[in-house]
Amino acid sequence: MLPDIENLLKLQVADKEIRRLQDEIAEFPKHVFVIEQKLAGTKSQLEKAQASVKADEANRRKFDTAIADLRGKITKYRDQSLDVKTNDQYKALLHEIQFAEKEIAGNEDKILELMVNADARDKEVKAAQAELKAETAEIEKEKEQARQRTAEDEKLLVEWRAKRDAIRTGINEDLLRQFERVSKFRGTGISEVRDHKCMACQVMLRPQTYNEIRSGQRIIICDSCQRVLYFNAADELIDQKAARPRRHHPKIDAPQAWYYRSEFGDISEAYLVLTNAKGQASRRVYDVHTGRLVGDILIREGDYRQAFPEDITGAIRLNGSWPESEVDSWGTELPMVVIDALQADLDLSRHESASGSHVKPPAPPSTEQAAS
Ligand SMILES: [Zn+2]
Repeated sequence: MLPDIENLLKLQVADKEIRRLQDEIAEFPKHVFVIEQKLAGTKSQLEKAQASVKADEANRRKFDTAIADLRGKITKYRDQSLDVKTNDQYKALLHEIQFAEKEIAGNEDKILELMVNADARDKEVKAAQAELKAETAEIEKEKEQARQRTAEDEKLLVEWRAKRDAIRTGINEDLLRQFERVSKFRGTGISEVRDHKCMACQVMLRPQTYNEIRSGQRIIICDSCQRVLYFNAADELIDQKAARPRRHHPKIDAPQAWYYRSEFGDISEAYLVLTNAKGQASRRVYDVHTGRLVGDILIREGDYRQAFPEDITGAIRLNGSWPESEVDSWGTELPMVVIDALQADLDLSRHESASGSHVKPPAPPSTEQAAS
């Protein structure tokens, strides 16, 4: 992997961590506000209970005063009754006294009622006080934890910012600008390439571009999303293990056989197609990177196995079969669908070798690789 790519990946980790810490620190006052709201609710409950107790006490005093007044009246009526001249006057005073006594009884009932209620009120106040005390302690603890967490976050933030600055200095300036510009708008500035695709925008890459990224020759930007592209062999292997279907093995007696060679003459990677027809064998060679036909179509006598043994030795046999007339119609360049199909089968074949208990050595012509 190119050092710039490694640094961009580290930078991405640092950026993400910095954002997370900033978000967490910003959450602190909101969190405190929510817990204080809860505390305010309990406080107002207590205040209501206490206000009820006070109101009851005021009522109690009112009833006591009323009773005292009524008793005073009764004494006055009794004194007056000693001086009355007529029976009617006496009866009237007696009536007043009875009325006052009834009023006193009414007030006494109300006081009794308040006394019964007072027990319940008292319990309400005590419960609210206990709740408030417990909540206050809990909330103070929570606030203290949040404060400590925030202090730790702030310390980490300083460290990560220093790390980020150090990573940034190790990256090519133009590349860094590209990465940060795309990051700002898209959230990420770098994307992994897997299965010939940019994993961020899912656009398929040309085989040549894919191979260049895979081999880590130079930095390539995704045409579609502008992210810096990179390849991670370990991830691809995991991906293949999880998602790849089983590969069909090419038929050994097929009249047409496709091969991949990691080197062929002057070109670095080549696809070969060998075809048997009317007692003769033909051979076409294509450049893997460009899909173009290399050299002339070679024709030899006999079966292709006997005719081109040196081409088959050490080559990877691939799935693929197209009628001769169709291969002719392609002219000097493989169609994109054919390139994709061959590339996909090559990947599967490589995965098969890599994930097997052992990697087979280059096979002799009679037991060619992947055809056995
Ligand atoms: Zn992309």
